[in-house]
Amino acid sequence: MKYIVCEEPGIFLLNDKQKPERAADEALIKIHRVGICGTDLHAYAGNQAFFKYPRILGHELSGEIIDVGDNPQNLKNGDRVLVMPYVSCGDCVACRQAKTNCCTNIEVLGVHTDGGMQEVLAIRTELLISSENLSYDEMALVEPLAIGAHALRRAALKAGETIVVVGCGPIGIGILKLAQLQGAHTIALDVAESRLEFVKEKIGVDHIVNVSQNAVAEVAKITNGELATAVFDATGNKRALESGVDYMAHGGRYILVGLSKDDLLFNHPAIHAKESSILCSRNATLEDFQLVLNNLKHFPSDVFITHKVNFTEMITHFDSWLSPENKVIKAMVSFTD
Ligand SMILES: [Zn+2]
Ligand SMILES: [Zn+2]
Repeated sequence: MKYIVCEEPGIFLLNDKQKPERAADEALIKIHRVGICGTDLHAYAGNQAFFKYPRILGHELSGEIIDVGDNPQNLKNGDRVLVMPYVSCGDCVACRQAKTNCCTNIEVLGVHTDGGMQEVLAIRTELLISSENLSYDEMALVEPLAIGAHALRRAALKAGETIVVVGCGPIGIGILKLAQLQGAHTIALDVAESRLEFVKEKIGVDHIVNVSQNAVAEVAKITNGELATAVFDATGNKRALESGVDYMAHGGRYILVGLSKDDLLFNHPAIHAKESSILCSRNATLEDFQLVLNNLKHFPSDVFITHKVNFTEMITHFDSWLSPENKVIKAMVSFTD
């Protein structure tokens, strides 16, 4: 079977290998879609934390079960499934508190262990969610949105709050839309005017602010000087991460969703004066996936998937997805029609 491996930063290879065997608690999945996200772009560019090469990328996955034994979820051959790509140990200190998303031994598919850019993948059945009526495109969109759902749960968002989301890629978009559905007023920040236009037109956010134009003053103006009670960073950019608290109200929460490789520096009096709650949000859990599945009709796949290519052609297109002028929101790799 064919697979694509990221051999080292900047180099993908299309190769052949044996189909995997499955363990008793695993299913074999014929992969239909792989969504491309910031993690994949950073891994290819060589600036992703938690990363070793060579690695088969791909963690936003949907496909079809082609071989499965008895399993607690009653999954059968032919079932259409999406993958929760976080393999946790089940008995570490985090797992025992149901925080499988930050398991001490976590292996995220396509990051710590090989992912879905291969025709067939063996995966534990407990990490699969089946759906009879969603398309493969829709199913492959659930994982990045679940990241946003988890961030909102970390923030314990309440209806009526005004939030700032910095970074209007797929993760930021998910946070904005799900927050709106939970009754929040939304302010979206980005450096790219095209992304701000996208969230204004397609998501209907309440306010857009370009980071390069005195954004703190703009957010203050919108909020009658109070600033936002919850701020989410969905950029993973060091400078953006360090300035997120500037948009936050006294007594507010700052949720770090994007991941930077660097140390972050905060001025202590500035964060202390606000009694800042600084929270990291890592991966997602089944609960987050379910919240997204219940709200998926608000995320039409034809709006979010801006670029689509066949698996064997991915390598030639990948470079172009790194360029902001191509206005990629979500690129999707397809194994079938
Ligand atoms: Zn991702
Ligand atoms: Zn664990």
